[in-house]
Amino acid sequence: MENPAEVLRRVFGHEGFRGLQAGIVAHVMEGGSGLVLMPTGGGKSLCYQVPALCLPGLAVVVSPLIALMEDQVAALRQQGVAAAALHSDLDEEERFEIRRAMARGELRILYVSPERLVMDGTLDNLARREVSLFAIDEAHCVSQWGHHFRPEYRGLTVLAERFPLVPRLALTATADERTVDDIRRQLVLADAPVFRGGFDRPNIFITAEPRETERAQLRAFIKRASDGRGAGIIYCGSRRKTEDTAAWLKQDGHDAMAFHAGMEASAKREAHHRFARGDAVIMCATIAFGMGIDRPDVRWVAHTDLPKSPESWYQEIGRAGRDGLPAQALLLYGPGDIALGRHRIQESPASDEQKRIERGRLEAIVSIAESATCRRRALLRCFGEDLEEDCGACDACATPPKMWNGTVAAQKMLSAVLRTGQRFGLGHIIDVLRGRMTDKIAQHGHDQLPTFGVGKDLPDHTWRGVARQLVSRGALDVAVENHGELLPTDQARPILKGETQLMLRADTVSKASTPRESSA
Ligand code: ADP
Ligand code: ZN
Repeated sequence: MENPAEVLRRVFGHEGFRGLQAGIVAHVMEGGSGLVLMPTGGGKSLCYQVPALCLPGLAVVVSPLIALMEDQVAALRQQGVAAAALHSDLDEEERFEIRRAMARGELRILYVSPERLVMDGTLDNLARREVSLFAIDEAHCVSQWGHHFRPEYRGLTVLAERFPLVPRLALTATADERTVDDIRRQLVLADAPVFRGGFDRPNIFITAEPRETERAQLRAFIKRASDGRGAGIIYCGSRRKTEDTAAWLKQDGHDAMAFHAGMEASAKREAHHRFARGDAVIMCATIAFGMGIDRPDVRWVAHTDLPKSPESWYQEIGRAGRDGLPAQALLLYGPGDIALGRHRIQESPASDEQKRIERGRLEAIVSIAESATCRRRALLRCFGEDLEEDCGACDACATPPKMWNGTVAAQKMLSAVLRTGQRFGLGHIIDVLRGRMTDKIAQHGHDQLPTFGVGKDLPDHTWRGVARQLVSRGALDVAVENHGELLPTDQARPILKGETQLMLRADTVSKASTPRESSA
């Protein structure tokens, strides 16, 4: 039996294992099954490819995509490994060739689609040979909780029954608990260890800020994060906004362009092409922009709107700094985003269970954005990875936010909302609190209310922070389908009654902001 470190060097040309790889390889070599959770690019393939070449017999890799299988097989063959892919796109002749190679014991690694694998013929054939291990790639396909459910993956349960002594290694980049539980149940891995790791990207400095003067904040961020050569990405919440933002940046003297799913194929290609080559080029995109960004020197990623989950945020900011050099991420968000996210989930056709999960993910990204302590710790915790100490590379670590007792301010705001009849948006409520005699105030006689002017002592942006934190705690709702009226919920009652004290975070916002600029 060849030594794993040697195979790694000789066949794959790598000096040493990374992170959890060595432990996983050793575990499989001892005959253990397990579940590997690593992000894309984390190095999952070697976790089964190395044992496959060290152990006697044939390793079987289940993979859901033919193109992916063919890529892997081509790469392995180039490295001199006898590998093949068995799937429904092959003709009779090609399948026969593979079966013959298997019978002669010539194959070391067989990639196979799940539907092919569970056919009786294939299983019987494998039962007659020595199988070293089963690797189940993209194992989240077994779970209905994500968007990648593949019913054929359910058939893989038979592997545990028919090959009880062969190690099964399930691999995925999806790490949320629900999916993990499902994989463990469906693939009969309840007693097997879970290897999680590689999610941290320490070279990306992460910052989250309330959206105050969006463009001024972006301008300050770009200045700080850009090195004048590498690229940057701005993720926007709508197609329209990608175009508006790109147009604005161009006026501002940047090489910027838009990208979204509604564009013509040729325009998309052109945008990809420019992004791949340009110096200091900026892509303003919806989340449709992601596949095929292989530029390692993306220096920064900004979000102008709250992403829908920690997973999507992590994936999108992970496109920065793949060269390992310092990179930056900025997340801008506001109370409307949180309310809109909740509303979208509520209105979606998904099942109640699915909605509950999506709501949980949304609340998780909100709490990362609102966190007063290390954001990276909060983010990695979502993937089950615990940092030993605070990261030192996020805004909360670099400049810990001040906390203040916002109970009285919250009471003032909630009572202004109630006394104006729950029919007004945040701008008007702040005018009431600050005692501004606007036309609208005069028209509704709001200057006669006892709450008129009771909030003079705090600036507008502090009031916006109070509102946002009330929304994020679920004490205040925003009517996103109407005109953004603020609506107190049941959870506002204990605050109004003074039964709960509310510690709020004092917001910090990127400097170089000119207060009157667009606050989209
Ligand atoms: P995943 O399947 O988790 O997305 P891959 O297995 O494709 O990741 O690995 C991502 C990249 O990292 C590949 O280019 C691979 O060659 C490289 N890589 C993985 N492990 C090592 C290692 N131990 N040393 C050097 N490079 C590695
Ligand atoms: Zn930190």
